[in-house]
Amino acid sequence: MNSAGPGFDLYAHQTAQPGADMVCPHCRGVAGVEPNAEFIFICKLCGGPRIPTPRGSNAADSSLPLLRNVDSLRKKRAAMKGLSYFGIAGLVMAAVIGLPVSIFSVTAAAVILAMFGGPAAGMTFYGRSQVAKLSQQISGSMDAAWSNTVSELMRSGTVKNATDLQRATNVDPQRAAHLFNLATVEFDIGSAHTGMRIEGAPVPLPEDPRFAALEARAAVEQQAEAEAAEAETNAATRGRVQ
Ligand SMILES: [Zn+2]
Repeated sequence: MNSAGPGFDLYAHQTAQPGADMVCPHCRGVAGVEPNAEFIFICKLCGGPRIPTPRGSNAADSSLPLLRNVDSLRKKRAAMKGLSYFGIAGLVMAAVIGLPVSIFSVTAAAVILAMFGGPAAGMTFYGRSQVAKLSQQISGSMDAAWSNTVSELMRSGTVKNATDLQRATNVDPQRAAHLFNLATVEFDIGSAHTGMRIEGAPVPLPEDPRFAALEARAAVEQQAEAEAAEAETNAATRGRVQ
């Protein structure tokens, strides 16, 4: 591409690869998205949450850490669902073995239930409570990711109203109106939130899903910064090797 010698080609990803809007940030597969009730849009290949953005917009990049966070929460939740199903299977097993045994010995049946039924019930209970907790976190983080994307699109002037948003991201009109409002609200509390932090004293915030979304976003952004720093170091090391 250039004759300036070896080094990092800033534009290699734009010339050598398909459009960023087609490459999945989770699985790196080149596939489109499909509608999903919980995540609005998911990758056709891996099922990871995605937010379609217009070509050339940097809104996708800034929301990436948030989407990755949602994806990891989604995978954790799937594991917890598996655990609760495993527990249910254990309960059924304990009953299937324990019931016929109880005809001969109630004590033996009680021992079987205590040995297998107890842990199985525990697994089911734990799995289910984790699924509920993770679902709540997913919903907050997903809201944060969309708010961030919409805010970015508003900042860059791509989106000025709900109709623009509908066109830019392919969401339905109702969803576009909701997401646009959410992002607008975040603009407002976002500045209020920052103001409180500057004063220094930690102000207890009321329980509000919008605050939860902001907190989730802040945590993920911190992590993303750390990861970016690490990636930079790696890139620098690679540059030296080449
Ligand atoms: Zn994917």
